[in-house]
Amino acid sequence: MGMRRRNRENSEEQRPKLTRENIREAAAIFRFIRPYRWSFFFGLVLLFLSSLVFMIFPYLSGLMVDVAQGNAETNYSLKDIGWILLLVLIVQGFVSYMRVYLFAIVSEKGIANVRRALYEKLVSLPITFFEENRVGDIVSRLTADVEKLYNAFSITLAEFIRQVIILVVGVLFLAFRAPKLSLIMLATFPVIVVGAMLFGRFIRKLSKERQQALADSNISLNETTSAIQVVKAFTNELFESLRYGLNIDKVVKVSLYYARWRALFSVFIITFLFGALFFIVWQGAIMVSDGSMTAGRLIEFVVYTGIIGGAIAGLGNFYTELLGAIGATERIREILKEEEEVQLDDAKNLERAPIEGHISYEDVYFSYPTRSDVPVLQGLSFEVEPGNKVALVGTSGAGKSTIVQLLLKFYKMNEGVIKVDGKNIQDYNTTAFRKNIAIVPQEVILFGGTIRENILYGRPDATEEEIMDAAKQANAWNFIQSFPEGLDTLVGERGVKLSGGQRQRIAIARAILKDPAILLLDEATSSLDAESERVVQEALNTLMQGRTSIIIAHRLATIREVDQILVIDKGQIIEQGTHEELSSIEDGAYNTLAKLQFEPI
Ligand code: ADP
Repeated sequence: MGMRRRNRENSEEQRPKLTRENIREAAAIFRFIRPYRWSFFFGLVLLFLSSLVFMIFPYLSGLMVDVAQGNAETNYSLKDIGWILLLVLIVQGFVSYMRVYLFAIVSEKGIANVRRALYEKLVSLPITFFEENRVGDIVSRLTADVEKLYNAFSITLAEFIRQVIILVVGVLFLAFRAPKLSLIMLATFPVIVVGAMLFGRFIRKLSKERQQALADSNISLNETTSAIQVVKAFTNELFESLRYGLNIDKVVKVSLYYARWRALFSVFIITFLFGALFFIVWQGAIMVSDGSMTAGRLIEFVVYTGIIGGAIAGLGNFYTELLGAIGATERIREILKEEEEVQLDDAKNLERAPIEGHISYEDVYFSYPTRSDVPVLQGLSFEVEPGNKVALVGTSGAGKSTIVQLLLKFYKMNEGVIKVDGKNIQDYNTTAFRKNIAIVPQEVILFGGTIRENILYGRPDATEEEIMDAAKQANAWNFIQSFPEGLDTLVGERGVKLSGGQRQRIAIARAILKDPAILLLDEATSSLDAESERVVQEALNTLMQGRTSIIIAHRLATIREVDQILVIDKGQIIEQGTHEELSSIEDGAYNTLAKLQFEPI
């Protein structure tokens, strides 16, 4: 039942309905433009003014004709009216300029706030959110949604309001000026405009169907040309051609159906829409001829009718767009409602938790939330004394990285606890806790920017001297100095390409700068050449000094010196001890692993 409800809600999301609930939800987005509410309000006033001023033009054109023919009930000369027109134009220009600019302030700054809030939310969300949702989708969807919202505030909302003003003022004005003709107009024109709109929408749907049919036929074109060897090997050229032919036949069929309706649409527009307009002109002309209306009034009337028709048509489109924007706010708010795992301010306000580095895993059971049926860690317990080094070894998929990720509080455990200095890690503030941990990953990813920025990532407020010191300890100073621009050398896509060993040493410098109590090392799997291997290992040894270190080891040769080796298999510890102890167990798991590594099959 719950599921089905959710599905229905999802499909409704495509075409949002205007309910009180989602208007209230959408209105909540207004909190982002609250700081600019006076600009918004003033913009609305100007919008109102400019729409009213705009409505003066048809009146003035009618008036000019009447004055020219000498049957106006006014003392203004044509010249006066010319001046008034000029004045109205200038006022209109000025008011429109201010209005557009004010709305731009609201939409640019307000939507910037939305973007900021979304970004801050996204980076504060737990890892699980990124795994459970297709983040690429979410990001592109959010980008599109924010754009819709932006359009709503910069254009659509204003246009919608303007069209409503034009419609209401126009109809009232006409009803007042020419009641009889207005009745005739109102009985015919709006109905036809609405009909034309619905018809137009139907035509657009057909046009999409035709595009789809065409796209479908192109799929088979792409498929067969890219798999041409298969087609030929199976001598299926004729078969494929026939199949493509069938698709093309379908395109023609859909296209002709579309064309028939399009043809009808132009007939409809010409016959009915213009027909209605001509009918009104005809009725008006009769009134002019029997003297119950002046020619100027008729012109005024016809121009207003055209504008009103435009407003009705525009309203429909803007209404659909506004609905789309309301749907967009819904998805934006959904993300904003997600619960974050860290507070952004903590990074600034909280000191790191005072941690010595005693780690204990107590009977930890874990499976990933995205694959809850697969047990990954199954009753894992071990302890590391402060400053000690422990290495995790085992075949790939045994659960080594998982063990490390749990210490970072990336996931919640199903059972058991991890304690640091005797305190459950869940009881630490996440940010204060993570400030105590540095990680040197297997594949070091450097951010585009300078080497300095990348090292500073470890502690953004470090001094120049500290950076240099860290680089030296990480054995990175030599190669950094060899670049003409030193620490300011750009890395990443737009800069130099660093070797694996160099990247690792930058990551080590970063970790040294952070000066954490706990260190997580994921050894690089791809081996470096002997010399880089030596400098990297040396840098790692410096880094590990005096810190509790957990090393995911891929090569057993590098972990002879650690205090404790844990052999992991299927989420359990199957052997535990120093290198000497474990190597002495004949047919032990550690020895088996060692054999696998040194005697590759
Ligand atoms: P190791 O580091 O020893 O190679 P891992 O800890 O990476 O092993 O993986 C242990 C098991 O957990 C594997 O079966 C793997 O497929 C699964 N696994 C790892 N990461 C995830 C994840 N983010 N989501 C779901 N399953 C995962």
